[in-house]
Amino acid sequence: MKDNKLYHESFEYKSEYDSEMLGTTGIDVSSKKEVCHTCRGNGRHFRTDLDEQAMVDSFRDDCDDDGFNAYTNGAFDQVCGECKGERVVDEIDWDTVPSWAKDCIEEWEMEKRFDEQVRFAENGYRY
Ligand SMILES: [Zn+2]
Repeated sequence: MKDNKLYHESFEYKSEYDSEMLGTTGIDVSSKKEVCHTCRGNGRHFRTDLDEQAMVDSFRDDCDDDGFNAYTNGAFDQVCGECKGERVVDEIDWDTVPSWAKDCIEEWEMEKRFDEQVRFAENGYRY
């Protein structure tokens, strides 16, 4: 099922394709479920408004076993904002991306790297 859209700036420069159409709607691709990178498939992660390391350190310094147990039991966790607790996220299934589009992106990235190197050299190898 083609339920995802892939858009890349390089598509707009492909005159042999309907670049205007591609530039606005992208191409139809499928997505597949991937384990969420943010929570590593837990569906939850430590609260982003707290400093996990500082908290663990303070439990250790205070010999606060209750606090530490609460922490290991997820008392300070929040539902993952990335997957919303689903544990998986939709990622583009690159197997369904047409090869012309992959070539297009690859070429674009290569040219970008080349341009950067040229600029780097022009600056006397300094950023
Ligand atoms: Zn997640």
